[in-house]
Amino acid sequence: MSGAGGPAAARVAATIRPDIQALAAYPVGDAQDGIKLDAMENPYSLPADVRDDIAAAARDAALNRYPAARHDALDAAIRGAFGVPADAALLYGNGSDELIHLIVQACCAPGDVVLAPVPSFVIFEMAARFHHAHFVGVPLTAGFELDLPATLAAIHAHRPKVVFLAVPNNPTGGRWPDEAIEAVRAATPGLLVIDEAYQPFSDGTWMPRAAQLPNTVVLRTVSKIGLAGLRFGYLAGPTPWIAEIDKLRPPYNVDVLTEAVMLAVLKHKPVLDEQAARLRASRAELAAALAKLPGLTVFPSSANFLLVRFSGKMGANAVHRALKTRKIWVRGFPGGDPALADCLRISLGTPDEHAALLAALRDILA
Ligand code: PMP
Repeated sequence: MSGAGGPAAARVAATIRPDIQALAAYPVGDAQDGIKLDAMENPYSLPADVRDDIAAAARDAALNRYPAARHDALDAAIRGAFGVPADAALLYGNGSDELIHLIVQACCAPGDVVLAPVPSFVIFEMAARFHHAHFVGVPLTAGFELDLPATLAAIHAHRPKVVFLAVPNNPTGGRWPDEAIEAVRAATPGLLVIDEAYQPFSDGTWMPRAAQLPNTVVLRTVSKIGLAGLRFGYLAGPTPWIAEIDKLRPPYNVDVLTEAVMLAVLKHKPVLDEQAARLRASRAELAAALAKLPGLTVFPSSANFLLVRFSGKMGANAVHRALKTRKIWVRGFPGGDPALADCLRISLGTPDEHAALLAALRDILA
């Protein structure tokens, strides 16, 4: 590797797309040890019997073979575990991130529009940029609600090929009302992607309608329910959409080990459900405790995290730094959407982790 400014730098400057050179890479958190509340992971590990089944499945996986063309057993397990309708087609991704990229690639010629509320999941915008599409972000209201009139007006003005709605939304946590989603769907001339990454922590889902709506697909991930390390997401929708998007999928994008582990874990789906329910049950108590601290506003959340605004003497960045020195890792938004400048996003953890967080915040804010 040549160093910065070495012989490679001039070639890079002349060769790599200027818009890519101008990008910052997706910020993956640098938490190591301590209390990790920065990435919406499930803090609970899997019980021993589930691990034993995973070990057996991994031992027996045919690592010398490419993944099979069909995934009949996995399809049946996913449909059963997550309520995917029999008439919806399925597409798997190396995380739902990959599926977001495939959707944009499949739909957008250079300059076509991808539209989403902002702030929302940053990969929607990054995928648009990577694939030469034009991203239109429609600001949420001051209280981080969907601005339906502005969203509909932007859809009419920009005729997007793809509209992404994260329901519940990351990083704000709220769930858009079904009537608002339906109004967006009815207005969308291209494809509406309802990204239900945080659905396991909320009420309601669009999954039962995944095959019925001619312009809508439903995106899910297993990352938030305890399998973030596995990298597996799925897209459910009408067969004609899924068949086209599938053409962009790198062959073998879901590897043999991931498939084997998914099959083993889904036999224990109630364990995942119970962990998600435990996290969800802890949300209101943590939100109430945080809201009692001076200068903190906690936004309503239907997800496994809370967005918190700091308007007291100490701003979000200072609190973020102080938490870091105590090895408590949360997500800040420096340099991101200005609407989030004074906010931190805190993933739900165990009761002990919540107690430690609250003690640290009381100390920091005192
Ligand atoms: N969608 C949303 C709304 C997310 O917040 C995330 C993860 N932060 C993802 C998709 C991607 O999840 P993964 O790639 O782990 O499946």
